[in-house]
Amino acid sequence: MRPLIAGNWKMNGTGQSLPGIAALAENLASEPPRADVLICPPFTLLSRAVATVEGRIPVGAQDCHERISGAFTGDISAEMLRDAGAVSVIVGHSERRRYHHETDAMVAAKAEAAWRAGLMAIICIGETEAEREAGHAEKVVHGQIMASVPRGAQPATTAIAYEPVWAIGTGRIPESDEIVAMHTLIRDSLESRCGAEGGSIRILYGGSVNPANALEILALPNVSGALVGGASLRAEDFLAIIRSAPKG
Ligand code: PEP
Repeated sequence: MRPLIAGNWKMNGTGQSLPGIAALAENLASEPPRADVLICPPFTLLSRAVATVEGRIPVGAQDCHERISGAFTGDISAEMLRDAGAVSVIVGHSERRRYHHETDAMVAAKAEAAWRAGLMAIICIGETEAEREAGHAEKVVHGQIMASVPRGAQPATTAIAYEPVWAIGTGRIPESDEIVAMHTLIRDSLESRCGAEGGSIRILYGGSVNPANALEILALPNVSGALVGGASLRAEDFLAIIRSAPKG
């Protein structure tokens, strides 16, 4: 399975970030990566990022509305993202679940909207620190797969990002054996949710991935890439993570 390294810029980046994107595109063009790469800048940069990379790096978004159009002030549909040149969209990030009260059902609807528009959906799941401490992490993650991942998920249209909420932006990451155990559970849950297709859907790890830990994380069984937040904002750090993808 070819890994996917996706950068989530969150609410960061202006036109001043475009030279960094251009530098990344140039580097990747001259040194073809062992992984698929995706950058997900904020909505305001999508079209400009697409123009800057000139097809050398796929560009994605960080959220979409489930409907095609209508009276939803401030929202953006998956079709609009596609029109802006996006090929993928992150749905159900824990920051959306937390600050915008997105439920599993809403996340599933957004994933289906992404597919409807021809986008790949990166569906985020992951337990909070309180859930982990209470011994509920596995139950929570299994439940999120069953309720946030629509049954029709396929490897070409879907990736899962396992992001323990307590590891996002904190510099803390689970032990390697904990990542493997959770990704194995997610693989099993995907197979029971989506049948044989669930066996080939990529499962990314996310949460404080950086150039120092990427090599170890990306080599773990059932880890098929990474969703990278903070470290994706610095082109040289993001490149170092991309270069850490294991050989075929
Ligand atoms: C994220 O926001 O998806 C993320 C993984 O952030 P960070 O890499 O900064 O922990």
